[in-house]
Amino acid sequence: MDTLNDSATPTVAHLPERPEVTEDFLASAPGVDTGEQDVRPGLRRLGELGLLDTGLPDDGRGGLLPFLGTVESVARGCLSSAFSLWAQRMGLEYLARAPRSPWVDEQLALLATGERAGAGALAPAMKELSGLGTVPVVARPERGGHRLTGTLPWVSNLFPGAVVALPARVEEPAGEDRRILVAVRVGDDGVRVRDLPRLMALNGTASSSLELDGAWANEEALVSDDLPAFCAGIRTTFLLVQSAFCSGLAVESTEQAAARIHGTTAVFDDDLQVLRDDVASVRARLAEFAQEPPEPAQVTQLRLDAALTAGTAARLESAVRGGASFAAAGHSSRRLRESLFLPIQSPTEGHLRWDLRR
Ligand SMILES: Cc1cc2nc3c(=O)[nH]c(=O)nc-3n(C[C@H](O)[C@H](O)[C@H](O)COP(=O)(O)OP(=O)(O)OC[C@H]3O[C@@H](n4cnc5c(N)ncnc54)[C@H](O)[C@@H]3O)c2cc1C
Repeated sequence: MDTLNDSATPTVAHLPERPEVTEDFLASAPGVDTGEQDVRPGLRRLGELGLLDTGLPDDGRGGLLPFLGTVESVARGCLSSAFSLWAQRMGLEYLARAPRSPWVDEQLALLATGERAGAGALAPAMKELSGLGTVPVVARPERGGHRLTGTLPWVSNLFPGAVVALPARVEEPAGEDRRILVAVRVGDDGVRVRDLPRLMALNGTASSSLELDGAWANEEALVSDDLPAFCAGIRTTFLLVQSAFCSGLAVESTEQAAARIHGTTAVFDDDLQVLRDDVASVRARLAEFAQEPPEPAQVTQLRLDAALTAGTAARLESAVRGGASFAAAGHSSRRLRESLFLPIQSPTEGHLRWDLRR
């Protein structure tokens, strides 16, 4: 695997592990996977422990490290919950960068305890900035705010009352359209969540399409009036937290595989060694980049490597485990299905490769 950094950097020691959190989320993983329960109780448990807003906002100087450790530990137990935790944290990060107002302060307080779910639909913005499509929501300026119309095809944490940050295009009659970032709440007039589709995994994450039909975002809900600059500022945090949930899955599957490699399965020894090196490289770069802001290409490469490593690890775990890994109810098969989400989660594998070639 191509990496831009030495895998043996000493900073790896600073990515904290929380075994008790892993154990807790492992217990609820089967229900959250199938959708028998959803991710909100887990978010509230983390909120009670004060783990949702540690180091908020990311200072790029190591303040995010404890949170990355939490995300990784949750993902070792349950990727659905770790993905939802990423969405919650991004909601917090976006609002923490918004102009302060009583409305923003109220949302931040409720998001930090997990009482309210947070979500972000930045995928279309990131795609547009890479020259891949156009932001689908149009914002019409009116006195005191913006009127929003359009459909966002995928957003997670779409629970009743959730705060959703989304990009929108302000059409200018003369000149170039502007891009803004605004927030709405699920349940507001004109904000509709389509029926939740049945997914291969992550069914408890309330992921679906969000339709805006004349929804209102007042001035307090204007997170940024300069979307490209906002995305440039948030990109490293966004990708580091995603890389942390990939890393959690990779670590868990690698350990599960390692525990079963003996006797005839020793033929997988070399694969395991390569995997361990890749996992160590991902974790070292996670810790390093959280402390010292990386070049954009370095964090893009990390996110790609983290997702690929998780996929390889889940596959090795399955191959080593044998028939038991094919039982639908087992953790191995869940992790294998979860790993298939990583190449299609924005930025997709294709999008990351595209950015690295540009
Ligand atoms: C369960 C679920 C939850 C989600 N939650 C959220 C969320 O909370 N927030 C959010 O913002 N998004 C969310 N998404 C959306 C997700 O982030 C992606 O935007 C989406 O899955 C990408 O799918 P698409 O259909 O838009 O594919 P496209 O982006 O159209 O890509 C289709 C295919 O083309 C490839 N591709 C794309 N661009 C290039 C390129 N330039 N060169 C080569 N290949 C390319 C991709 O890798 C993919 O294989 C979620 C998606 C799912 C499935």
